[in-house]
Amino acid sequence: MTPVGTNTRWTNRAGLGFSHYIGMIPILLCLVGSSAAWAWGEEGHEVVAAIALDFMAPAQKARLQALLASDDDPLTAHDPISVASWADRLRTGSGHPVTFQHSRAWHFVDIDRHHPDLTQACRDFPPLSRDTLASAGPEEACVVAKIEQFSAELARYRQSGFQPADRPEAVLALKFLIHLVGDLHQPLHAIDDHDHGGNEIRVKWDHVHAGSLHHYWDTVFIEHMDPDPARLAQRLSARITPDNLREWQRGTPRAWAMESFATARSQAYDPLPPPDGKGHYALTDAYAQQAMAMIALQLEEAGVRLAKTLDDCL
Ligand SMILES: [Zn+2]
Repeated sequence: MTPVGTNTRWTNRAGLGFSHYIGMIPILLCLVGSSAAWAWGEEGHEVVAAIALDFMAPAQKARLQALLASDDDPLTAHDPISVASWADRLRTGSGHPVTFQHSRAWHFVDIDRHHPDLTQACRDFPPLSRDTLASAGPEEACVVAKIEQFSAELARYRQSGFQPADRPEAVLALKFLIHLVGDLHQPLHAIDDHDHGGNEIRVKWDHVHAGSLHHYWDTVFIEHMDPDPARLAQRLSARITPDNLREWQRGTPRAWAMESFATARSQAYDPLPPPDGKGHYALTDAYAQQAMAMIALQLEEAGVRLAKTLDDCL
């Protein structure tokens, strides 16, 4: 396990306060596999959902659990933590009764690293017509637009008391929301440097197999922090203060996207060392420790904001 440090964003953004990380030699990791271009790995999504459960209101949490329990989708079990990776499993879910190939782009927003413009990245946020289910929306929507659409849809269903006819779509909306609020907080899901969100940048940190920058931020660093998602969630939840809650629950998915973008730019891209002759980047311990501190903070914020999002529309 690696200490996750302070959860003060200012300190982390400014690149201060990490002296206690430097010199911590990473434990051996035997990670295999290539980069996944989709999301936090499953651990990251489970951590976000577990933190959210810690901060949801009891009545809304019970409603969430009851709605999910009515689901019979074979891809995952039907509790809030198990469904957190459902939206990523869709693309490999052979035999799944519904295909969601049109949802592939819903997991990220390509904000240009050098000319950031969220509205442009989300194609001016075209509204979804009232008679279109959010789960059936067009494929070119960004993650921010989808969070807004699923939230609005759930809020409408709540107003009419979650009628039986609305429940299948409500369950889909919940499963997408639980996943996509997590994805929005994966910094490399909110930046584009013409490298597919860092998937084309080859990096290597001591004792870890080489992989893409995206995969390191999705999976490698989280597994290094703690390979047990329940334990990591508990540790992160425990240090969230009432002040953190008040601060993080403010804002909108659009603002959260720009925060993720700023984190990606200042913490994932800018501190990269010069590449070697093959264009590969050897990550220093200082880079890795700072990345893990930022990831811990992003997971905490994602959990708190997911709790608020679900409370508001349930
Ligand atoms: Zn995803």
